[in-house]
Amino acid sequence: MKTFDLIVIGTGPAGEKAAVKAAYFGYKVAIIEKEEVFGGAEVVTGTLPSKTLKETALYFSGKYEKGLFGVDRDLAHEASVEDFMFRKNFVSNYAANEIRANLKRHGVEIFAGVASFGDSHTLSVTGPSKTTIQGKYIIIASGSYPYHPSSIPFDGKRVHDSDTILQIRRFPLSICIVGAGVIGCEYATIFSTMGAKVHLINDKEKILPFVDKEVSSSLVSQMENEGVEILFNTAVESIHVPTNEKEMIEVKVKNGQLLNVDMFLFAAGRSGNIKALNLDKIGLKVGSRESIEVNSEYRTNIDNIYAVGDVIGFPALASTSMDQGRAAVAHIFKTKDLEHLPTFFPYGIYTIPEISMVGVTEEEAISSKMNYCTGKANYADMARGQIMGAKSGFMKIVFTKDDLIIRGVHIIGHIASEMIHYGVELVEGKKTLYDVIGKVFNFPTLHELYKYASYDGLSNLSGHKIKP
Ligand SMILES: Cc1cc2nc3c(=O)[nH]c(=O)nc-3n(C[C@H](O)[C@H](O)[C@H](O)COP(=O)(O)OP(=O)(O)OC[C@H]3O[C@@H](n4cnc5c(N)ncnc54)[C@H](O)[C@@H]3O)c2cc1C
Repeated sequence: MKTFDLIVIGTGPAGEKAAVKAAYFGYKVAIIEKEEVFGGAEVVTGTLPSKTLKETALYFSGKYEKGLFGVDRDLAHEASVEDFMFRKNFVSNYAANEIRANLKRHGVEIFAGVASFGDSHTLSVTGPSKTTIQGKYIIIASGSYPYHPSSIPFDGKRVHDSDTILQIRRFPLSICIVGAGVIGCEYATIFSTMGAKVHLINDKEKILPFVDKEVSSSLVSQMENEGVEILFNTAVESIHVPTNEKEMIEVKVKNGQLLNVDMFLFAAGRSGNIKALNLDKIGLKVGSRESIEVNSEYRTNIDNIYAVGDVIGFPALASTSMDQGRAAVAHIFKTKDLEHLPTFFPYGIYTIPEISMVGVTEEEAISSKMNYCTGKANYADMARGQIMGAKSGFMKIVFTKDDLIIRGVHIIGHIASEMIHYGVELVEGKKTLYDVIGKVFNFPTLHELYKYASYDGLSNLSGHKIKP
């Protein structure tokens, strides 16, 4: 039987980075993957596909240029679903091949098949052939899968989850999306931009509950301007899917509305991918939604077994999953580098327009009784914003009044997910409004938003508007 210093289960971002790091430090590493295409949700069903579709939707709709040069490319109605999926397939294939090549380059031995525990050091791999391998340490990075309530008749044709929506063979004329979290909101804006009538059902009074309210309200009004109907504080009562595809799906909503739609997407909740692992056999502790419980070192209740990424639950992002994989390896092999993820990390929400944030929201400042103030700057008031033709979008900073330390940065607008990283440094480094004002930024750039939001913060404190 082959033996390894480390066996990793799953080639998603958490597994890939863990395996490659351990191999880089000279350890003998194996990785097990059940799918032919490597990369997990990051590459196949989640991050990269949805982000590429967002860019594709913007391209086809001419949204980047609309109102800027007076030209509306408006190709959305002409694009076929093959055109729409072309770039997504290209990007996914490229990334999947890169992951395989990266693992091979580092000498990680790849096993194809489903991993299942025999004992705490032994895994059987059931694939084209059956093998058993042993590891001194094991990292579970098996990811998550979309939650399927029994009341929703998923068929992968017209009634989808976030995996099967990527396999549609035609555009929906209209779509009902359940769940106004990140995935639901992203797909709502993508399909709406491509010309579909979108109804978004949300069981709360706010979409994206963890986002600053001023930002999420701005997204709501921009989505509504684009024709998205958002139904708040309600849920699906029943759904009837006719066998004839030409007939509309009937969605009865608890608020009494009846929606007739072409397609349906359920995007509310995910559970840990643990079914095949045979965790009962080794007595590994599992928490709610099939997530694996770990300590601050990513170690499970079994000493030599670690778990990282979506399978341990929050925050379930590709960005944090990669570093959890690297941190677990640091603890196992004492590499003394990245042992803990930073307290503050950014969220990127790739809706149209994009949202990104780090640190406390205004609502959190209020509920924690923080002595806070805010500052704001609009894209349209920046020279770069003018050049781009920006009509909306803003940055908001939350800071403490007594020391002027920036506690949170919130952005909605073009490339918000790129713009946030300076904000992460500010919040993590406890920088003040004067630290930002004292910096020289390239001109014209959107980064000037930081400076003008800081000046606005000072104005709000002093009570009279400064014209910097
Ligand atoms: C629609 C959508 C959009 C998203 N957008 C973003 C985004 O913009 N930014 C971001 O940071 N995150 C985003 N995410 C989240 C991100 O994709 C996940 O957090 C990330 O992929 C989790 O990585 P992972 O390695 O833990 O698991 P996964 O990526 O799910 O990989 C797990 C791997 O393990 C394999 N596996 C599972 N069980 C076994 C077994 N028993 N044997 C062998 N192999 C097994 C699977 O086949 C898979 O390849 C998005 C997710 C979705 C669904």
